[in-house]
Amino acid sequence: MKAAVLYDINTPLKIEDVTLDDPQENEILVKLEATGVCHSDLHFMQGDMPMPLPIVPGHEGAGVVEKVGPCVTTVQPGDHVILMVTISCGKCGYCLSGRPTICVENLPIQMMATLPGGGVRLHKGEQAINHLFGLACFAEKVVVHERSAVKIRKDAPLDVMCLLGCGTSTGIGAAINATKARPGESIAIFGCGGVGLSAVMGAKLLGAKVIAIDTLDSKLEKAKELGADYVINASKDDPQLKIPEILGQGANYAIEFIGKVDVMAQALNCIRSGGLLVIAGMPALLDMLTIPAFQFLMCKTITGTVQGDIVAPVDIPIYVDLFMEGKLPIDKLITRTYKLDQINEAFEAMKKGEVIRSVIKF
Ligand SMILES: [Zn+2]
Ligand SMILES: [Zn+2]
Repeated sequence: MKAAVLYDINTPLKIEDVTLDDPQENEILVKLEATGVCHSDLHFMQGDMPMPLPIVPGHEGAGVVEKVGPCVTTVQPGDHVILMVTISCGKCGYCLSGRPTICVENLPIQMMATLPGGGVRLHKGEQAINHLFGLACFAEKVVVHERSAVKIRKDAPLDVMCLLGCGTSTGIGAAINATKARPGESIAIFGCGGVGLSAVMGAKLLGAKVIAIDTLDSKLEKAKELGADYVINASKDDPQLKIPEILGQGANYAIEFIGKVDVMAQALNCIRSGGLLVIAGMPALLDMLTIPAFQFLMCKTITGTVQGDIVAPVDIPIYVDLFMEGKLPIDKLITRTYKLDQINEAFEAMKKGEVIRSVIKF
């Protein structure tokens, strides 16, 4: 089968014929219909986070289960699944207390880029190839642990639902789970890429007042279309001045989706006393955040979220239903679709800011 392989950081992905082993014990083989192209892939491909090479990136896959290992109980061949960027063991303290996105198995799998248990099922001749996030979705098929997959209804379009594997559920979850905003409270959303725009949709489901901030008017237009009450172009207006002008004071909540420390510091200045700043963007591993410590005497809180603190098997089917009912139009995030052999074009378009979200269709 074909897969897009990264052999070295800052080099184009190479479309290769690779071998995929059969699923073992708790693993499943999924024929992918589509994979979203996410900024996190780019971070890894640029070396912002170290990872073992060669590797097949891609972590927003959705498809149909083709084969299952002998111990699999949660899905069967023919099921439609979304593959999740975070895995949860279901047994550790975090999983058992309802915080599976910070499961103890998550970070090791991310760092080792293997399946849970340490194995890889991808090979090019004698060479083993790693699975980004235990997935490797820039490939026609994947073998993943069953706990990486969430079964969804069969009438939902997989080429849209794939976005829920990472970016979209991260944004929706960050707004809903990390802020827990009440109707009428204000949320300032920094960064209107696919994730931030998903947060706009999530915040509107809560009935919150949304202020969307970006430096590109095209993205702010999209934020308005998705329900943002106010937009600020940060290349023209300073959100630290503009938000108090709009609201009479700072926002109740701010969520940072860009992963830039100067934007995080700015976002902290944009919340009112007692407000909450949620960091959801992915900074480079060694970036340091410098903030005025006095802000804590204003009872401000800073917290972080990964994958929107969702409980995937519970929340993902709800988001799918909301999409099918027209209440969560995540299809509006997709600006382009590509074939696998055009994948480097997709990343070039992302770097230039030409797309909100693009999807690779197999
Ligand atoms: Zn766990
Ligand atoms: Zn992602």
